[in-house]
Amino acid sequence: MLELLGQVAEASAATTQAALPSAFALLPEQLEASGCPGSATNAFQKLQRPWTWSHVEPPLGQAAARWLVEHTDLRLPQVEREVSASDGTTRVVYRSGGQAFEAVHMPRDVRAPRVTICISSQVGCGMGCTFCATASMGLIRNLSAGEIVGQVLATMHRIGPKTSNQLSLVFMGMGEPLHNVTGVVQAIQTLCHPRGLGLSPKRITVSTSGVVKGIEALARAPRRPRLALSLNATSDPTRSSIMPVNRKWDLAELRAALDRWPFEARERVTIEYVMLAGVNDSDADIERLVAWLDGLPHMLNLIPFNPHHAAPGLRASSPARISEFSAALHAAGCRVTVRVNRGRDVAAACGQLVTGVGSDR
Ligand code: SAH
Ligand code: SF4
Repeated sequence: MLELLGQVAEASAATTQAALPSAFALLPEQLEASGCPGSATNAFQKLQRPWTWSHVEPPLGQAAARWLVEHTDLRLPQVEREVSASDGTTRVVYRSGGQAFEAVHMPRDVRAPRVTICISSQVGCGMGCTFCATASMGLIRNLSAGEIVGQVLATMHRIGPKTSNQLSLVFMGMGEPLHNVTGVVQAIQTLCHPRGLGLSPKRITVSTSGVVKGIEALARAPRRPRLALSLNATSDPTRSSIMPVNRKWDLAELRAALDRWPFEARERVTIEYVMLAGVNDSDADIERLVAWLDGLPHMLNLIPFNPHHAAPGLRASSPARISEFSAALHAAGCRVTVRVNRGRDVAAACGQLVTGVGSDR
């Protein structure tokens, strides 16, 4: 089987493969409609359950394998580099279509087998947030649904977990997922399909810098994930100065978009807030934040800023200030947590993901 796949793959890679749809983003009904022989559900299941693969090869039957090689792109993103941090976090750099992007594998607790994989939606990012290292790359391109699903399956096959029961996904790697809403929604449909990984959409969180048009599209998605919003400031002038997207959709429009979000019972939107000394950590920020969050089912996540070369003018709020800030918000009735930064020693923490041009690594 490996030999057959190898021979045919080589032949078609040289000719048409770049234009073919990824086998890893086709649903059973799409496989069937386009002529996959035998049971399309069976082929889908083999493709989407990495714990059944031997090597990096789904155990497909001969006819399905031959058909897939001819009619789809069966390549997974290739692992270029894998670095593990002292806290158990692993940063995997993938290469696909000539570009590199990253996924970060984070075991939640050494005693429990639960894992969160932080995945990328784009190569680079075009949103220009001043505090974020990925912004220094600019937007190179969107990842396809196949590349998004591929990085999840390849990471699970390589590092785990062994089944999707123990898995959560966060779109908090490279890129603005809601600038690639078609690819992201298609990837989520595939990852949640009960005959594949069967991940619950509740275990998937999409984090956005505030692309209101994309929030609206995600709200209508058939398998709606959880939402996280990177707020990072409490006044329009400050937010616009660190997050250019705020010039298009300001704080009032963002809040209105969240008010329209179809919350399920007990669902909360995660509000991310990177703590920047002298920029967004004043007492006035606390007051405005409490007012902005009023009436919103939320979980506020304060993120210690990770300094990097692309943002020389920004400093992290001190741990003492983060504690005070958190305590004041808590006392005012907000639900608040402080994020433990994972993977700092391998540059896998929030806002540190950079590959290729502009990389300091
Ligand atoms: N583009 C999406 C998701 C990726 S960024 C978004 O912006 O939401 C994931 C999180 O990392 C965001 O909440 C962002 O505000 C945060 N972040 C970016 N740069 C950071 C840095 N240098 N230190 C800490 N957090 C950072
Ligand atoms: Fe892009 Fe998010 Fe970084 Fe802003 S914080 S530049 S949206 S990845």
